[in-house]
Amino acid sequence: MHTETLPSSLILKNLKEMQFLDSLHQRHYANRSMPRKHILIYPEPVLKNRAKEIDSIDLDVVTLVEDMEEAMYQAPGVGLAAPQVGCARRLILVDPTAGKESGNLLVILNPVIVEREGKVTDSEMCLSVPEISVDVPRSEKILIQGVNMDGKEVRIEAEGFLARIFQHEIDHLDGRVILDYASALKRAIYLKKKKKGKI
Ligand SMILES: [Zn+2]
Repeated sequence: MHTETLPSSLILKNLKEMQFLDSLHQRHYANRSMPRKHILIYPEPVLKNRAKEIDSIDLDVVTLVEDMEEAMYQAPGVGLAAPQVGCARRLILVDPTAGKESGNLLVILNPVIVEREGKVTDSEMCLSVPEISVDVPRSEKILIQGVNMDGKEVRIEAEGFLARIFQHEIDHLDGRVILDYASALKRAIYLKKKKKGKI
């Protein structure tokens, strides 16, 4: 074997170097790929309660938005609500083109649906309720009122897929998830799987 011709100290040194480089690489990789906030999985209590209104845009809110942005794009997902990262505040991030096109991120504080029109049922998935899809009836067209990160009041008209994402995320602020629209059997199967650690 080739290694037999090398002094044993050299082999050891190389091995140590390799392990050192490997640990450096792992640390670098972990830093780059791990979001600062984890997305919580149902039935985590924060996902079942009503979140509180935000009355000032302070450093905590700015940091929360940054962390949520990172977690959402990492997942990847088209929307994320603050309770999903463990924060019971009324804040949502929505980006219907996540992973396809950049520059379409909407950050809305204290969103409220002020007008609704039509009804359409379609299947939805949720980062906090993995491995399941549920048919959820939603309004086809909505008008949302809220506050943006500049503290300005905004009104957004949304329909179709975008309207669905908004309604899904606002549901999270009221402690509602897609499982609440599922049959009792589907819910029981999910909770059993979760309990067994299969999710
Ligand atoms: Zn969700």
